[in-house]
Amino acid sequence: MRIDILTVVPELLESPLGHSIVKRAKDKGLVEINVINLHDFSNDKYKSVDDYAFGGGAGMVMMIEPVYKAIEKLKSERKYDEIIYTSPDGRKFTQKLANRLSLKDNLIILAGHYKGIDQRIRDNLITLEISIGDYVLSGGELPAAAITDAIVRLIPGVLSDEQSALYDSFQDNLLAPPVYTRPADFKGWKVPDILLSGNAAEIDKWRHEESLRITKELRPDLTDNE
Ligand code: SAH
Repeated sequence: MRIDILTVVPELLESPLGHSIVKRAKDKGLVEINVINLHDFSNDKYKSVDDYAFGGGAGMVMMIEPVYKAIEKLKSERKYDEIIYTSPDGRKFTQKLANRLSLKDNLIILAGHYKGIDQRIRDNLITLEISIGDYVLSGGELPAAAITDAIVRLIPGVLSDEQSALYDSFQDNLLAPPVYTRPADFKGWKVPDILLSGNAAEIDKWRHEESLRITKELRPDLTDNE
Protein backbone atom coordinates (compact mmCIF):
# COMPACT_ATOMS: atom_id res chain seq x y z
CA MET A 1 0.00 0.00 0.00
CA ARG A 2 1.09 3.55 -0.73
CA ILE A 3 -0.18 6.74 0.90
CA ASP A 4 0.85 10.15 -0.44
CA ILE A 5 0.08 13.06 1.88
CA LEU A 6 0.05 16.57 0.44
CA THR A 7 0.68 19.38 2.92
CA VAL A 8 1.99 22.91 3.29
CA VAL A 9 3.53 22.01 6.70
CA PRO A 10 5.32 18.66 6.26
CA GLU A 11 7.02 19.06 9.66
CA LEU A 12 3.65 18.45 11.34
CA LEU A 13 3.63 14.90 9.98
CA GLU A 14 7.19 13.86 10.74
CA SER A 15 6.78 12.68 14.31
CA PRO A 16 3.32 11.07 14.12
CA LEU A 17 4.40 8.95 11.15
CA GLY A 18 7.99 8.39 12.23
CA HIS A 19 7.57 6.14 15.26
CA SER A 20 5.86 3.12 16.72
CA ILE A 21 3.57 0.92 14.62
CA VAL A 22 3.53 3.15 11.53
CA LYS A 23 7.32 3.25 11.46
CA ARG A 24 7.54 -0.52 11.83
CA ALA A 25 5.05 -0.99 8.99
CA LYS A 26 7.19 1.22 6.77
CA ASP A 27 10.39 -0.57 7.81
CA LYS A 28 8.80 -3.94 7.03
CA GLY A 29 7.86 -2.66 3.57
CA LEU A 30 4.13 -3.13 4.20
CA VAL A 31 3.32 0.50 3.46
CA GLU A 32 5.06 3.39 1.74
CA ILE A 33 4.15 6.83 3.06
CA ASN A 34 5.32 9.95 1.25
CA VAL A 35 4.88 13.40 2.68
CA ILE A 36 4.84 15.85 -0.20
CA ASN A 37 5.55 19.53 0.38
CA LEU A 38 3.16 21.66 -1.67
CA HIS A 39 5.65 24.55 -1.60
CA ASP A 40 7.73 22.46 -4.02
CA PHE A 41 4.91 22.81 -6.58
CA SER A 42 4.51 26.55 -6.26
CA ASN A 43 4.84 28.71 -9.35
CA ASP A 44 6.62 31.71 -7.90
CA LYS A 45 10.01 32.30 -6.37
CA TYR A 46 8.50 32.89 -2.92
CA LYS A 47 7.05 29.36 -3.10
CA SER A 48 3.64 30.68 -2.10
CA VAL A 49 0.78 28.25 -1.74
CA ASP A 50 -1.97 30.57 -0.44
CA ASP A 51 -3.70 33.76 -1.50
CA TYR A 52 -6.45 36.13 -0.38
CA ALA A 53 -10.05 34.97 -0.57
CA PHE A 54 -12.17 36.27 -3.42
CA GLY A 55 -14.99 38.31 -1.93
CA GLY A 56 -12.82 39.46 0.95
CA GLY A 57 -12.80 38.43 4.59
CA ALA A 58 -10.03 37.38 6.95
CA GLY A 59 -7.76 34.45 6.28
CA MET A 60 -5.94 32.93 3.35
CA VAL A 61 -7.02 30.19 0.96
CA MET A 62 -4.86 27.39 -0.44
CA MET A 63 -4.32 28.03 -4.15
CA ILE A 64 -5.35 25.62 -6.88
CA GLU A 65 -2.15 25.42 -8.83
CA PRO A 66 0.35 23.76 -6.44
CA VAL A 67 -2.25 21.18 -5.40
CA TYR A 68 -3.30 20.55 -9.00
CA LYS A 69 0.28 20.08 -10.15
CA ALA A 70 1.14 17.74 -7.27
CA ILE A 71 -1.97 15.58 -7.79
CA GLU A 72 -1.55 15.44 -11.58
CA LYS A 73 2.08 14.36 -11.20
CA LEU A 74 1.11 11.56 -8.80
CA LYS A 75 -1.79 10.49 -11.03
CA SER A 76 0.51 10.28 -14.05
CA GLU A 77 2.69 7.80 -12.14
CA ARG A 78 0.02 5.39 -10.86
CA LYS A 79 -3.70 4.90 -10.43
CA TYR A 80 -5.20 6.12 -7.16
CA ASP A 81 -8.16 4.45 -5.44
CA GLU A 82 -9.16 7.61 -3.58
CA ILE A 83 -8.04 11.23 -3.44
CA ILE A 84 -9.04 12.28 0.04
CA TYR A 85 -9.44 15.80 1.40
CA THR A 86 -9.55 16.27 5.16
CA SER A 87 -12.37 18.64 6.02
CA PRO A 88 -14.63 19.39 9.01
CA ASP A 89 -17.67 19.05 6.71
CA GLY A 90 -16.55 15.67 5.33
CA ARG A 91 -17.82 12.20 6.08
CA LYS A 92 -17.15 11.26 9.71
CA PHE A 93 -14.10 8.97 9.99
CA THR A 94 -14.97 5.61 11.54
CA GLN A 95 -13.35 2.22 12.01
CA LYS A 96 -15.58 0.96 9.22
CA LEU A 97 -14.15 3.52 6.80
CA ALA A 98 -10.62 2.73 8.05
CA ASN A 99 -11.25 -0.96 7.31
CA ARG A 100 -12.45 -0.13 3.81
CA LEU A 101 -9.48 2.14 3.06
CA SER A 102 -6.97 -0.40 4.41
CA LEU A 103 -7.86 -2.67 1.48
CA LYS A 104 -6.81 -0.07 -1.12
CA ASP A 105 -3.49 0.10 -2.95
CA ASN A 106 -2.88 3.81 -3.49
CA LEU A 107 -4.30 6.77 -1.60
CA ILE A 108 -3.69 10.50 -1.71
CA ILE A 109 -4.58 12.53 1.38
CA LEU A 110 -4.68 16.29 0.93
CA ALA A 111 -4.35 18.20 4.18
CA GLY A 112 -5.98 21.62 4.10
CA HIS A 113 -4.62 24.67 5.89
CA TYR A 114 -5.56 28.33 6.48
CA LYS A 115 -9.28 28.82 5.68
CA GLY A 116 -9.22 25.72 3.50
CA ILE A 117 -8.64 24.91 -0.14
CA ASP A 118 -10.05 26.57 -3.26
CA GLN A 119 -13.43 24.88 -3.75
CA ARG A 120 -12.62 23.99 -7.38
CA ILE A 121 -10.04 21.43 -6.21
CA ARG A 122 -12.75 19.78 -4.12
CA ASP A 123 -15.25 19.86 -6.97
CA ASN A 124 -12.92 18.46 -9.62
CA LEU A 125 -10.17 16.33 -8.10
CA ILE A 126 -11.24 15.05 -4.68
CA THR A 127 -13.07 11.70 -4.52
CA LEU A 128 -13.67 11.48 -0.75
CA GLU A 129 -13.84 14.08 2.02
CA ILE A 130 -13.21 12.98 5.59
CA SER A 131 -13.75 14.72 8.92
CA ILE A 132 -12.21 13.34 12.11
CA GLY A 133 -14.87 14.98 14.27
CA ASP A 134 -17.06 18.00 14.84
CA TYR A 135 -14.36 20.47 15.81
CA VAL A 136 -12.00 22.65 13.82
CA LEU A 137 -8.24 22.14 13.79
CA SER A 138 -5.69 24.53 12.31
CA GLY A 139 -4.76 22.13 9.56
CA GLY A 140 -5.46 18.74 8.01
CA GLU A 141 -2.09 17.32 9.03
CA LEU A 142 -3.25 15.81 12.33
CA PRO A 143 -6.38 14.40 10.64
CA ALA A 144 -4.17 12.97 7.85
CA ALA A 145 -1.90 11.39 10.48
CA ALA A 146 -4.91 9.99 12.38
CA ILE A 147 -6.43 8.53 9.21
CA THR A 148 -3.09 7.06 8.10
CA ASP A 149 -2.40 5.52 11.51
CA ALA A 150 -5.86 3.95 11.73
CA ILE A 151 -5.51 2.49 8.23
CA VAL A 152 -1.93 1.25 8.56
CA ARG A 153 -2.51 -0.78 11.74
CA LEU A 154 -5.20 -2.73 9.85
CA ILE A 155 -2.89 -3.86 7.04
CA PRO A 156 -2.24 -7.60 7.51
CA GLY A 157 1.18 -8.22 9.05
CA VAL A 158 1.54 -4.75 10.58
CA LEU A 159 0.55 -5.70 14.12
CA SER A 160 2.82 -8.34 15.61
CA ASP A 161 -0.19 -10.29 16.84
CA GLU A 162 -2.36 -10.09 13.74
CA GLN A 163 -5.41 -10.97 15.72
CA SER A 164 -5.14 -8.04 18.04
CA ALA A 165 -6.73 -5.53 15.64
CA LEU A 166 -9.79 -7.76 15.65
CA TYR A 167 -10.27 -7.09 19.35
CA ASP A 168 -9.93 -3.31 19.03
CA SER A 169 -12.88 -1.09 19.85
CA PHE A 170 -15.47 -0.64 17.08
CA GLN A 171 -14.61 -3.87 15.25
CA ASP A 172 -17.94 -5.74 15.40
CA ASN A 173 -19.50 -2.60 16.90
CA LEU A 174 -18.09 -3.45 20.31
CA LEU A 175 -15.76 -1.52 22.61
CA ALA A 176 -12.59 -3.29 23.76
CA PRO A 177 -12.57 -5.03 27.16
CA PRO A 178 -10.35 -3.65 29.97
CA VAL A 179 -6.70 -4.71 30.08
CA TYR A 180 -4.31 -5.19 33.00
CA THR A 181 -0.64 -5.93 33.57
CA ARG A 182 1.64 -6.64 36.53
CA PRO A 183 1.50 -6.26 39.48
CA ALA A 184 -1.64 -8.32 40.07
CA ASP A 185 -2.21 -6.39 43.29
CA PHE A 186 -1.27 -2.71 43.52
CA LYS A 187 -1.91 -1.36 47.01
CA GLY A 188 -5.09 -3.44 47.16
CA TRP A 189 -6.25 -2.61 43.58
CA LYS A 190 -6.67 -6.11 42.26
CA VAL A 191 -6.76 -7.61 38.77
CA PRO A 192 -9.94 -9.68 38.18
CA ASP A 193 -9.25 -13.27 39.34
CA ILE A 194 -10.36 -14.78 36.06
CA LEU A 195 -7.39 -13.22 34.21
CA LEU A 196 -4.99 -15.04 36.55
CA SER A 197 -6.80 -18.38 36.21
CA GLY A 198 -4.96 -19.58 33.10
CA ASN A 199 -8.26 -20.81 31.65
CA ALA A 200 -8.15 -19.42 28.09
CA ALA A 201 -11.76 -20.28 27.22
CA GLU A 202 -13.12 -18.66 30.38
CA ILE A 203 -10.92 -15.60 29.83
CA ASP A 204 -12.22 -15.22 26.24
CA LYS A 205 -15.77 -15.51 27.54
CA TRP A 206 -15.12 -12.90 30.26
CA ARG A 207 -13.57 -10.50 27.75
CA HIS A 208 -16.52 -10.81 25.43
CA GLU A 209 -18.98 -10.25 28.27
CA GLU A 210 -17.03 -7.20 29.44
CA SER A 211 -17.09 -5.84 25.86
CA LEU A 212 -20.85 -6.23 25.76
CA ARG A 213 -21.29 -4.69 29.21
CA ILE A 214 -19.07 -1.68 28.49
CA THR A 215 -20.61 -1.07 25.08
CA LYS A 216 -24.11 -1.19 26.56
CA GLU A 217 -23.08 1.20 29.31
CA LEU A 218 -20.93 3.69 27.36
CA ARG A 219 -22.03 3.48 23.75
CA PRO A 220 -25.47 1.86 23.45
CA ASP A 221 -25.79 3.58 20.05
CA LEU A 222 -23.19 1.17 18.59
CA THR A 223 -25.46 -1.84 18.89
CA ASP A 224 -28.81 -0.04 18.60
CA ASN A 225 -29.16 -0.24 14.86
CA GLU A 226 -28.09 -3.86 14.52
N1 SAH B 1 -12.83 27.32 7.64
C1 SAH B 1 -12.94 25.91 7.65
C2 SAH B 1 -11.91 25.26 8.54
C3 SAH B 1 -10.51 25.47 8.12
S1 SAH B 1 -9.41 24.65 9.17
C4 SAH B 1 -14.30 25.51 8.16
O1 SAH B 1 -14.86 26.22 8.98
O2 SAH B 1 -14.81 24.45 7.76
C5 SAH B 1 -8.05 24.33 8.12
C6 SAH B 1 -7.96 22.93 7.58
O3 SAH B 1 -7.83 22.02 8.63
C7 SAH B 1 -9.16 22.46 6.77
O4 SAH B 1 -9.06 22.88 5.45
C8 SAH B 1 -9.06 20.95 6.90
O5 SAH B 1 -8.21 20.40 5.92
C9 SAH B 1 -8.41 20.78 8.27
N2 SAH B 1 -9.36 20.40 9.33
C10 SAH B 1 -9.75 21.16 10.37
N3 SAH B 1 -10.61 20.50 11.16
C11 SAH B 1 -10.76 19.26 10.64
C12 SAH B 1 -11.52 18.12 11.01
N4 SAH B 1 -12.32 18.11 12.07
N5 SAH B 1 -11.43 17.01 10.24
C13 SAH B 1 -10.64 17.01 9.14
N6 SAH B 1 -9.91 18.06 8.73
C14 SAH B 1 -9.96 19.18 9.47
